[in-house]
Amino acid sequence: MKDIHQFKNQHILIIGLAKSGFAASRLLYQLGATITVNDAKPLEENPEARQLEEIGVRVICGAHPLSLLDEPVDFIVKNPGIPYSNPLIKEAVRRGISVVTEVELASRLSEAPLIAITGSNGKTTTTTLAVEMLKESEKIPLVAGNIGTVACEVVQHATTDNIIVTELSSFQLQGTETFHPKVAVLLNLFDAHLDYHGTKEKYGQAKAKIFSNLTDEDYHVVNVDDPCVLSLSERAKGIKIPFSTKTEQKTGGYIKAGAIYFQDEKIIDVNDIALPGKHNLENILAAICATKVMGAKTEQIQSVLQTFTGVKHRVQYVEAINGRRFYNDSKATNILAANAAISAFTNPVILLAGGLDRGNEFDELVPALKKVKAVIAFGQTQEKIVKAAIEAGVAIIKKAERVEDGVPLAYDVSDEGDIILLSPACASWDQYKTFEERGDSFIATVQNLKGQ
Ligand code: ADP
Repeated sequence: MKDIHQFKNQHILIIGLAKSGFAASRLLYQLGATITVNDAKPLEENPEARQLEEIGVRVICGAHPLSLLDEPVDFIVKNPGIPYSNPLIKEAVRRGISVVTEVELASRLSEAPLIAITGSNGKTTTTTLAVEMLKESEKIPLVAGNIGTVACEVVQHATTDNIIVTELSSFQLQGTETFHPKVAVLLNLFDAHLDYHGTKEKYGQAKAKIFSNLTDEDYHVVNVDDPCVLSLSERAKGIKIPFSTKTEQKTGGYIKAGAIYFQDEKIIDVNDIALPGKHNLENILAAICATKVMGAKTEQIQSVLQTFTGVKHRVQYVEAINGRRFYNDSKATNILAANAAISAFTNPVILLAGGLDRGNEFDELVPALKKVKAVIAFGQTQEKIVKAAIEAGVAIIKKAERVEDGVPLAYDVSDEGDIILLSPACASWDQYKTFEERGDSFIATVQNLKGQ
């Protein structure tokens, strides 16, 4: 770690524990900061808080009292999930106290250069691809973020011989000030998380913070097919590495005559890529651009692309039963993601969709539903999904209580050659704890059906 004394004796308030708050607390405590940890969950139900208390950290649990701001506070580390409308955060901002997220600390301490990846969809897939592609290069890649370990923990053992690849949400980016990646990647921008950010503009501004501290020696990798990405990256410093699935990009990544190119080097024929879906071509191009500039070897990139079939819960192939192929795309928690998954297939698709109702309609799903053979709707948004399916003229529309009941219904209406796809276009919290639980339940039901 670099500048390890920078937090010594500073008064730091950590609000919201979970994985990232816990990691930040432990790290700052070790580095000699005077920390107070505050979490809404009562101490009895809060093993992380109790663990911190045991090592001597001051812990205040059960509420977010405003009086915490009457003590000296140099800055606040906020869990990304806590909204800025939280009264304590609101008051801190009003008083001019800086509020950052854990990734800001990681960036201030990291000896290793960072590849930071953001966008509405494709972050985890691109991050995983990038890590795999860097495996045979001089620097050893480490992954931080949603998959793997929290950035604050990773930086503790990262050196200049490593590269950290990290995916960042808009929530994390909003709480950054000096966050400085070597390579900043913006994949796409879609109306998401408007409940948190308020407007698409504000959401875009949070995403664009990935570019804020780039210098002329850094890189920004941008999807030039997405007008929002282009406009947000307009003023970014550093060397621009564009990518496109539509047009040739001499200085970046593109597709020409059925092959992927990076600048003037042919990397691989599209037909030799194991990962399905046109949307994944974008993720692949982004990962190639981000890793090539950091020294990834072409042979390694080729070998990854020939073998990597995807991250779990992302258009993940599950099983074939009597010629019907089942795919789990439980991570498709918004409409853009479900659109991309449906478009990934040329065979007829039977779609299982529905879940948490965030108040939006599903009009933007209608064009993709026009290509769908049947829809099985479940969850809180069931009626809205049915409405969109009727509008799209889908021939077979059925309702199921949950994903598990939807699987046999889907099988009943299927023919040989069909794709049965769980791509819910909604978050899972109305019926499942996480999208992983929903996906695992789908997989188990399919495997059960196969065993019958
Ligand atoms: P994230 O980490 O941003 O949520 P993932 O890589 O986990 O993204 O993919 C989540 C879902 O988003 C996938 O299952 C797929 O349906 C969709 N998706 C992935 N990449 C893209 C892309 N580049 N454009 C549109 N949709 C995508």
